[in-house]
Parts: sequence; structure tokens; C-alpha cells
Amino acid sequence: MKNYLIQIVEDDPSVKKLLEITFREYEFNHISCESKKNAMMLFLSHNPDLLIVDLGLSDGDGKEFIKQIREISKIPIVVLSARHDEKEIILALDAGADDYITKPFSVNELLARIRANLRRITSDATLSSKIVCGEIEIDLASRSIFFKKEQLKLTPIEYELLKYFLLNTNKTLTHQQILKEVWGVGYQSEMQYLRTYVNTLRKKIEQNSTRPNYIKTESGIGYRFCCNG
Ligand code: CA
Repeated sequence: MKNYLIQIVEDDPSVKKLLEITFREYEFNHISCESKKNAMMLFLSHNPDLLIVDLGLSDGDGKEFIKQIREISKIPIVVLSARHDEKEIILALDAGADDYITKPFSVNELLARIRANLRRITSDATLSSKIVCGEIEIDLASRSIFFKKEQLKLTPIEYELLKYFLLNTNKTLTHQQILKEVWGVGYQSEMQYLRTYVNTLRKKIEQNSTRPNYIKTESGIGYRFCCNG
């Protein structure tokens, strides 16, 4: 198995220490920094496989860093923050984070989410098929999705969600089913995650996101992805 490199961006020394001890114990390579400014330098110089990002940093908001990263990379980003209100979670996910864990956190849960996020980036590497649906085309081997022949800029979660839809076209998928398949076991009730991501995907692939042709809402049940868009 590949030896993954995790970058920690955390200004709280005790949390940073806990993460470092945990990663050492579980044999994850890791690098860490305390500020937004150093985070970008470290990212560019080490090319990590996953980011753990605190939001309240000494030189600014971690969301700004996440937005900068999303301009240049699809790397999985897990937010680790003491902020636990829904609005802040949605803002972080909208900025491009893939996962959000609130402090105080369980080390085992954090490790499980890291594994899930890393699994996503590796599971497609062995596949080579392409699927075409309307004006959308997915290449599973290169993890690329094209819309009207242009490559879509997607975060890892957006990619996983669209991939799941494309593998299950014209089927009604329940909210719980989608959450479990895309986010993982334990996420079945996180409806706001799903709503947020469906909205961002619609903005990217629908002519009119209020009257969608591809991602149809099945009221009270879930969604159905149609290819005759
Ligand atoms: Ca902090």
C-alpha cells in the first residue's frame, strides 16, 4: 500500500501534538504547520495526499486556504474545527472541504474518515471504463469528468457524488443510500451535506439549476439522475 503523506494545518499546540502522536502510531507520514502562510508553502513543496485543516488560524481563516487549494488541487480536505454551527460547516464545505469534524473529536473517528477519504482517491485507479450520459462523460481511470467536452473542476466529494449518479442513471436513489455510498456509513442523516453538494453540482451541469434536466428531485425520497438531459 502506498505510504500516504498527511499535512496538518493546526495552530493549537495540544491538538497538533495529539494528531502527530496518532499519525506516528498509525504510521501515516505527516508534516505540520500552524499558519495559513506556511500551509501553502508546505503544500507546494511536499505535495501531500490529504489535508487536515483547522479554521481558526493565527493569520486568518482556514477557509481562505481551502479556497486557494481548490484552485490548484483535488486533494481530500478534512476540516477539524471547534466551530460546530451548521452555517460554518456549510461554508467550509462550499469552500471545497470534503469532510468536517468538530472538536473535541474522537481519534478513531478521525482515522476512519481519513481512511475513507484516501480510499476514494485510490479506488478508481484500477478502473479504465468511460461512461457517457447526455453531455457528461466520466473517465474513471483518470478521475475526470467532462461536460460539453470541457473538463469539470470538481472537489473529491463532488466527483464521488456525480460518479455515483452516473453509475446509477435513471434509478431513484434515496437520500440515505446516496449519503452512505458517497460519504460513508454514519452519514445517512446528514441531509444538509447532500443538499449542498447537489446544489453545487447543479450549478456546474444544469442549464437552469432551478429546473434541472440531469439531477431530478424525487420529493421526499431522494434524487434520480437522467441521461436524456
Ligand atoms: Ca485554531
